[in-house]
Amino acid sequence: MENKNFRTWLDDMNLNHPLVIAGPCSAETEEQVLKIAHELKDTDATIFRSGVWKPRTRPGTFEGNGVKALPWLQKVKEETGMMTAVEIANAHHAKLAMEFDIDVLWIGARTTVNPFAVQEIAEAIQGTEKIVLVKNPINPDLELWVGAIERLHKMNVQNIGAIHRGFSSFRKSQYRNVPSWQIPIDLKGRYPSLPIINDPSHICGNRTGIFDVSQTALDLKMDGLIVETHCDPDNAWSDAKQQIVPERLVEIMHDLKVRKPRFEREESLSNLNALRKEINAKDDQLLEILSERMQIVENIGKAKKESNVAVLQNARWKEILDKVTEKGQGQGLSDLFIERIFKAIHQESIAHQEKIINS
Ligand code: PEP
Ligand code: MN
Repeated sequence: MENKNFRTWLDDMNLNHPLVIAGPCSAETEEQVLKIAHELKDTDATIFRSGVWKPRTRPGTFEGNGVKALPWLQKVKEETGMMTAVEIANAHHAKLAMEFDIDVLWIGARTTVNPFAVQEIAEAIQGTEKIVLVKNPINPDLELWVGAIERLHKMNVQNIGAIHRGFSSFRKSQYRNVPSWQIPIDLKGRYPSLPIINDPSHICGNRTGIFDVSQTALDLKMDGLIVETHCDPDNAWSDAKQQIVPERLVEIMHDLKVRKPRFEREESLSNLNALRKEINAKDDQLLEILSERMQIVENIGKAKKESNVAVLQNARWKEILDKVTEKGQGQGLSDLFIERIFKAIHQESIAHQEKIINS
């Protein structure tokens, strides 16, 4: 699938900055919605976001004002000229959002995980020219994200985009949802012209990280940002910790650096080519070393077979991991990186030895 329409729409907008979608996590009251919208009117924000159906982890918290809030968004459009966006989680939401002429519909992370719900939405909005944005699923599964996009595409939804909002993780981290940047990069590899919008608010879960995550998103050539913005964030009815005031959004947009898509000067280009050659040579060396290491692993596998010894030797594996982690620290390589690389090597080694021992 090649999606060109939302890309064309973006290009035609001719913005001199990334696309900005801003607004509160939830539409709380008509006054709150209009106040924020008026504060955003003269900023870089083109689209006003606001949840009216809120997927909350636990019942008993504010679950949104529902259909009652949709006319408030119509007022936003009338009074400010901004486009409007809401989250839809089922066919009923989709129909109501269309009825109230909301411009942009987004499918939330908890919905993207559910192919039944996505299919039902895709059928309800079949053929629409509205912009439909698909948030990544909460779990780090590229195929589920792609599957949701495909379902919309099959129903002839014309203007599809993606939102990268990070992934939940058991690992303790500075993020509410870890960005796992490689996943949106892989999505871009699949669909090069599909616009991807970054959601620093749901990635960070706090206000302080928003600038850095947004900058990384732009460095990775993402097309826009969706930022939760509230005139009184501390007293927001949902996601109070991560919302920023419109003035802060203006500062952030001013300070963000938009990178050029490629080197333009001849001399920088030849410098880059020289460095890339060096990288290619290092990659060749890495592959050779890995292959040589695997030969030794296979010899150990033969010895294990002869003596009928188990493939997994936990104490030895721990010894290796401790040693390389310590060495890596001295070489500017993070513990997490070393752990990932060596776990992958260990798994591959086990697979090779398994083959030998069972042959
Ligand atoms: C939201 O955008 O307010 C929201 C609920 O996001 P997510 O689906 O990313 O959790
Ligand atoms: Mn939110």
